[in-house]
Amino acid sequence: MTTAIEETLVLVKPDGVARNLSGEILRRIEAKGYSLVDIRMLQPSRDLLAEHYAEHEGKPFYEPLLEFMESGPVVAMRVAGNRVIEGFRVLAGATDPTTALPGTIRGDFGRDWGLKVQQNLVHGSDSVESAERELALWFA
Ligand code: GDP
Ligand code: MG
Repeated sequence: MTTAIEETLVLVKPDGVARNLSGEILRRIEAKGYSLVDIRMLQPSRDLLAEHYAEHEGKPFYEPLLEFMESGPVVAMRVAGNRVIEGFRVLAGATDPTTALPGTIRGDFGRDWGLKVQQNLVHGSDSVESAERELALWFA
């Protein structure tokens, strides 16, 4: 495997903050050897969320997702490390907490809340391009 030092955007979503899991999520990131470069807590505006989730506009879960994401404060983190973009998504686990594997953040802490699949605790950028775009948005 080639070395590729990257930066990614991690968000602790409103459910993660409300359930006091921000520290546990950061602990797992640091335990893996990734470095916290910057961190901020904020109440995201609809404009910020619409830009962040532009790729999902028009999908059935788009509106509920934005409503959920603006329902409370989130913690945004700039995280650096070797192949951290893919690596954090492995730490996070599958999008649906019901099927996310044990040992992952979503697998260990995600709940099956019926229709509320959007409550899956964390966001992680999915590519180098997404990471650059999202970090510029959240750490302008
Ligand atoms: P991610 O990259 O694993 O976060 O997943 P996506 O980029 O595909 O989706 C963005 C977010 O939208 C997810 O993290 C979920 O919060 C939410 N989401 C995705 N798919 C669904 C769905 O089928 N139903 C609902 N309610 N929410 C979804
Ligand atoms: Mg995504």
